[in-house]
Order: sequence, then structure tokens, then C-alpha cells
Amino acid sequence: MIPKDHPRYRSLVARERLARCAREGVVALEGLAAHGRGEAFDYLIGERTSESALLAARTAAAMLLSARHAVISVNGNTAALAAREVAALQQASGADVEVNLFHRTDERIALITRLLEEHGVRVLSGTAERLVPLAHDRGLCLPEGIGDADVVLVPLEDGDRCEALRKMGKAVITVDLNPLSRTARTATLTIVDELTRALPAITAACATLEPGERDRLIASLDNTYLLRAAIDEMRERLVHALE
Ligand code: ATP
Repeated sequence: MIPKDHPRYRSLVARERLARCAREGVVALEGLAAHGRGEAFDYLIGERTSESALLAARTAAAMLLSARHAVISVNGNTAALAAREVAALQQASGADVEVNLFHRTDERIALITRLLEEHGVRVLSGTAERLVPLAHDRGLCLPEGIGDADVVLVPLEDGDRCEALRKMGKAVITVDLNPLSRTARTATLTIVDELTRALPAITAACATLEPGERDRLIASLDNTYLLRAAIDEMRERLVHALE
């Protein structure tokens, strides 16, 4: 039992949950390593949502609400950390949810689908086809899901798939604490924030954006500016760390 007053309570709870989900097969062991990389960057950003991340989250809400067909692509880490937050975002944005895995087996797809459904997510089902030009199994997707989407939210993604989705003409929104990752630099829009803070921020924005504001946010989207702002934030914290 982790004491609630532990200074790293949130982080320890997340680790505990990921470890449990890894034992159950929801999270791949490689997913634990990816989480560790994320934690390090979260330390650098001060474990809080920056102004620029909030602007990115509002822009993400605008893109999801304005999409012809928005799909949220969920992997093992996202399901383990944020199933409830995905359900709330689906409710607020009307997006479809599809499970997409690097380490894909029918058993893991079923496990993750069940976990999401237990938290109130409606998960697309069907027969996946290799529609995204990638050799590994992340290329598999549903023709009526990611295959048809014009906007895809892919949290905690790897660079190859992000790039392949972009080449297919889709707008890609990602959540990635590492502003230097290939994903962060290839996505249409990158929210440099921790997943369990970023998804509620997008959900909250879905409820408050005016139609005019949606168009303004989309028209002024500048991902290089957002990435630079995140790097500046981290640099400032490093420069003043020991003061
Ligand atoms: P790329 O291929 O894009 O360069 P990568 O090889 O780092 O990235 P992965 O190993 O798949 O890609 O890691 C996924 C990314 O998700 C990492 O950049 C990590 O910083 C980030 N990440 C991990 N956990 C979280 C989290 N809880 N919230 C936000 N970002 C996270």
C-alpha cells in the first residue's frame, strides 16, 4: 500500500498499475521501458501541465470536434493508465476508439478491449487489415476505424506509425512527454504532457470551445512553436534547478 502523503504518490500508483497490467498481459514489457522514458521527461517539465500544453490540448479538442471521423487509437499503456479518461474523452468528442498494438495477439486485443469496456469505452470491433504501410502489426487497422479516419489521436506512439499515418493524409494528434521524439516532431499536433493530465484537458476543452474558437485554434496551429515552448520550459527548470 503506497501512503497517500508520499511525495511521489501519483508516480508510484501509476508504476504499480503498469506492473500489475504487465503481469496480466495488458502492458507489454517494452511498454514499461517506454513509461520510464516518459517519467524522466515529466520530471523535467515539473509534473504539471504547461501553458503551451494546455493550448495544445484545446487545439486537439478543436480538431477532434471538427473532424469528419475522429478515432482514438489505444495501446496497452494507454489502456492501463487512462481507460476512464479515454471513456470521458470519447463521450465528450464523439470519437471512435480502436485498439492498436505493436505486440499484437488476439488475446491481448481481447484483454485490452475488456479493460476499456469495463471503464465505459465503446470499442470498435471488426477484421483488421494492413492498411497502414508498415511491416509490423501496427500497420493493421479497421477499414471502418483508423482506415477511414481523417483525424487520429495516437497517445504514446512510435515515430514510424505516426509518419505512416501522416503520409496517408491523416491529421495525427499525439500525447508525448518527449518533445524530441520522432513522433512528437512528425505529428500534426503534439501535446507535451503526461497522458492522465492531457486527456482530461482535451475532454474539458471539448465542453467549452465555441465554434469560432475551434476554427481559430486550428488555423493558428504551429507544432514547432509548441515543441519549442516545451523545450524552453524544461531548459528553464534545469537552469534554475539548484537555486
Ligand atoms: P519515437 O519513435 O517517436 O522517437 P520512442 O522510441 O521514444 O519514440 P516509444 O518507446 O514507443 O517511442 O515511447 C513512447 C513515448 O511515449 C516516449 O517518447 C515517452 O516519452 C512517452 N511516454 C511514455 N509514457 C508517457 C505518459 N504516461 N504520458 C505521456 N508520454 C509518455
